[in-house]
Amino acid sequence: MPRHAQILDSAAGPLPSPAEWQSHSPVALLRNVLRLTAPNPGFMTGPGTNSYLVGDPRTGFIAIDPGPADADHVARLWAAASHVDGSGGNLKLIVCTHSHPDHSPGAKPLQDLCAQAGVAVAVWGLASAPTARANSQFVPDITLAHGQRLLLSPATEGAPCHTLLAIHTPGHAANHVCLLLEEDGLLFTGDHILNGSTTVIDPPDGNMGHYLHSLDVLHQQCTEYGVEFILPAHGHPLPKALDAIAHLKAHRLKREAKIAAVMRANPNGDPDQWLPLAYDDVDPRLWPVAKRSLLAHVEHIQWLQSAGSGT
Ligand SMILES: [Zn+2]
Repeated sequence: MPRHAQILDSAAGPLPSPAEWQSHSPVALLRNVLRLTAPNPGFMTGPGTNSYLVGDPRTGFIAIDPGPADADHVARLWAAASHVDGSGGNLKLIVCTHSHPDHSPGAKPLQDLCAQAGVAVAVWGLASAPTARANSQFVPDITLAHGQRLLLSPATEGAPCHTLLAIHTPGHAANHVCLLLEEDGLLFTGDHILNGSTTVIDPPDGNMGHYLHSLDVLHQQCTEYGVEFILPAHGHPLPKALDAIAHLKAHRLKREAKIAAVMRANPNGDPDQWLPLAYDDVDPRLWPVAKRSLLAHVEHIQWLQSAGSGT
């Protein structure tokens, strides 16, 4: 029996419409994991950005992805990170999985709330790369190294610790990082793996080769730590983490093979001509977004060809 299947399953199921997805109070996924969804549902964000709080009142909390700079959401996050006496603001640090505008801008106002309460809380993550778009600039207070562990220890001896392992996962964004909760076998995937929508790979900050390699790294780490559930930044928890990662990679490679075939059949075409052929199974309304991923696949196919030809 998986360690926490019952608790997480009760929070899963089909995605409700964005209007039904509540963002007013935290949802306890485990004894030490709270999810609070930002009120930013939309085409690209699904039901909204999931902010997660890891920890408990005795250890304090780590906030993962404070979301957009939404004052009400940030205040709810602050209140949900409670002390033993029920008062809020029991945060030890803030981590952003990457710099996109629905993930990192809430970090500063959350940090400011802590400062007003007299607590200095650092923002951790990776700085945005020069390739990041203007709306995705981010500089953390502290750079999170690949393989670094963020540890929450209780003041009382013998009470459980909570350890988050940082895993660099470029691909969706050059500065993307996933976090693995070691004690519970959970993986927080930010936007690298989603539930209910497809991760956009938007070159040049997005890179398909890096994305696929990061999936391999996640698969290896999930095997090593016995990870069972994926907690994405958008949508419900995903069970069977290893299967989900393998399925995702196979899906990407299948699409890439289709694009490569379209390119071979239309060698003088351009991406606008390849798009309707390679995504003929996808709603045309999604083609503008799919085109970004198509460009990422084309870049990867051409890189593989140049690597294969030894040039
Ligand atoms: Zn993103």
